[in-house]
Amino acid sequence: MKYYSTSHSCPEASLEEAVIRGLAPDKGLYMPRTIPTLPASFIEALPSMSLTEAATGVAKALFGEDIPGSDLESIVESTLSFDCPVVKVKEGIYSLELFHGPTLAFKDVGARFMARMLSYLLSHRKGGASQSVNVLVATSGDTGSAVANGFLGVEGVRVFVLYPKGRVSPVQESQIATLGQNITALQVEGNFDDCQALVKAAFMDGDLRSAMLLTSANSINLARFLPQSFYYFGAYAALRAMGHKEDIVACVPSGNFGNICSGLIGKRMGLPIKRFIASNNLNDVFFQYLRSGVYSPRESIATYANAMDVGAPSNFARILDLYGGSVNEIRKDIEGYVVDDDTILRTMKECLDENGYLLDPHGACAYRALSEGIKDGEVGFFCETAHPAKFPEVVMKATLTQAPQPERLTAFLGRKKESVTIGKDFPSFKEFLLSVG
Ligand SMILES: *Cc1c(COP(=O)(O)O)cnc(C)c1O
Repeated sequence: MKYYSTSHSCPEASLEEAVIRGLAPDKGLYMPRTIPTLPASFIEALPSMSLTEAATGVAKALFGEDIPGSDLESIVESTLSFDCPVVKVKEGIYSLELFHGPTLAFKDVGARFMARMLSYLLSHRKGGASQSVNVLVATSGDTGSAVANGFLGVEGVRVFVLYPKGRVSPVQESQIATLGQNITALQVEGNFDDCQALVKAAFMDGDLRSAMLLTSANSINLARFLPQSFYYFGAYAALRAMGHKEDIVACVPSGNFGNICSGLIGKRMGLPIKRFIASNNLNDVFFQYLRSGVYSPRESIATYANAMDVGAPSNFARILDLYGGSVNEIRKDIEGYVVDDDTILRTMKECLDENGYLLDPHGACAYRALSEGIKDGEVGFFCETAHPAKFPEVVMKATLTQAPQPERLTAFLGRKKESVTIGKDFPSFKEFLLSVG
């Protein structure tokens, strides 16, 4: 498969080039030249398939030209070593629980898949001697921990996670800085923007680029965003297997729009999801775009659903591209919704009182939007993208109860942290990378 850039100003790339580059040289995002359609027989058989079987079928359709089926099977198996169950919250509304991975958030799926795919591509590079790849991630918490855990122990890949010193939660820091092996935690004397600036500067630096292979692991990377489509197939299969014959609606709490974009690709491949609801917090650039047809990115503001605090969603370019740039076509498939902070708290409380189901702040945005937006003749699922225990203060504020602590979280807290402290100036970061690379 060849991959083109959404900016259409550079040559098409092979899978390997697109995954190792991340961003296309013209600053566009890579998209597959053709989105394969799955045979009707595959869709019909979904309700009797396991998530891994469904995902393997989807992975073969997407990547089968470049990676043999048996290798894809093992990549998918290791990606989905945990389940993504579909849990009934109330009549017609289901939670697709994407938080059963190592860091209890949905990014675990894409991070793990990308790590395994990258490792595969490196070990099969033409021209022999396989060079290792260095993944640089700037994080305000969640992305870094998912990437670090997804890439842990994966051969041929080293990960450098940059996080702002003293500004990530103790749990998040322990998920980044206690891993060791091929994961290096770098605490930066600065804020998240400083971390991001260092990573950007590294990608632009000629000396570094010639000394080492550098790549990113955010949802700009197609190997991280595309596999997220797997669990939409899983959710569809689960609802049909439960006997639901209604039209299916998917509701996604959205920040950079990588998650929903992968669902839209699933639909394009033939998955019968009737429509999508994109739920925003007060960072509602996409909602405003659906309304006015004008896209005006702006500075993000802090909310309780902080993984959705994005003012310029990076995957917007992919969505536009999927629909030929037409807001009217986009509106046919996606409805927008906005949830403010008070409504997040109120929704968490109401859902716990009425249904006995504890939401995290991101899931709360989606649950609200789905509950308000669902129509007769439809059944819906929303992506519950993080475990509520990751947000103890918000859970306490909303419900006056403590979120149950999964063992996996407390286990991290007990381990020894090791991170390297670096300044926010680029020359010393560069020197550090050159000394270890
Ligand atoms: C990343 C994230 C989101 C937003 O997903 P996008 O793909 O950026 O739209 C929502 N919830 C949680 C918990 C996340 O970590």
